[in-house]
Amino acid sequence: MEHAGKVGFVTGGSRGIGKEIAVQLAKRGAGVAVADVRESDVGEVAGELRRLGVKAEGYVCDVSSPEDTERAAEAVIEGFGRVDFLVNNAGITRDKLLLRMSLEDWEKVLSVNLTGVFNVVKAFAPHLLKQRTGKIVNISSVIGLIGNAGQVNYSASKAGVIGLTRSLAKEFASRGITVNAVAPGFIETAMTGNLTSEVREQMMGVIPLRRFGTVTDVANVVMFLLSGMSDYVTGQVINCDGGMVMA
Ligand code: NDP
Repeated sequence: MEHAGKVGFVTGGSRGIGKEIAVQLAKRGAGVAVADVRESDVGEVAGELRRLGVKAEGYVCDVSSPEDTERAAEAVIEGFGRVDFLVNNAGITRDKLLLRMSLEDWEKVLSVNLTGVFNVVKAFAPHLLKQRTGKIVNISSVIGLIGNAGQVNYSASKAGVIGLTRSLAKEFASRGITVNAVAPGFIETAMTGNLTSEVREQMMGVIPLRRFGTVTDVANVVMFLLSGMSDYVTGQVINCDGGMVMA
């Protein structure tokens, strides 16, 4: 229960990987601030978390909006009195081959997946730096490492998250704050739910562990990075992909 008494802010926390991270934190006794774009969803998840016996609140927050992230940060600090963990999980895809990809599709994905991380960290940085302790985990993707046809926007955003993670780790290290990234492979969520069976078969062929990942597989790695077990780990990218990418 070493997360007990701590407070985590999880973006995109109302479903998929983000929700599982929020649930795992709550099960370990941490207070959880869930941020997502739909009010009904964040309210529902916060209710579920409270039933696990912890303080939990939902915040409507589009991470691509600096106004939203500032507002959420103020409300979280006011409501919980502190924040120890930032989990930048919110992410979207708008897949198309480059020739068919609009500038809007490019900018939308970059604004949520990459600028969203910047906005959240900026909003909470004064508090974390003053506190001189904290852990930030950014959810990247193996696609940010190896690329994928049809995903130049997504791949660039997730590679950007890795660069941001490493630079921030160097900036915040002297204040006792660690910053790491998790790069999931193929995880069963709504994001991957509409892939064709042909694509799924192809993917399975390149996963040495011969199964797709679960949200719990990813949340487990995040729990490690938010625990004291990883105090000497910063600026790292941990792949959670069944061995799909080894480097
Ligand atoms: P989901 O689509 O299942 O969940 C993402 C959540 O983020 C949704 O609740 C979504 O809300 C929310 N969200 C979307 N845009 C914003 C925004 N602007 N501000 C705040 N919240 C937002 O995704 P996953 O759980 O599958 O993915 C979570 C993270 O993991 C993402 O960053 C993704 O890129 C990454 N990842 C996932 C992989 C996978 O195989 N699933 C593989 C590698 C990385 P709503 O749906 O209501 O719009």
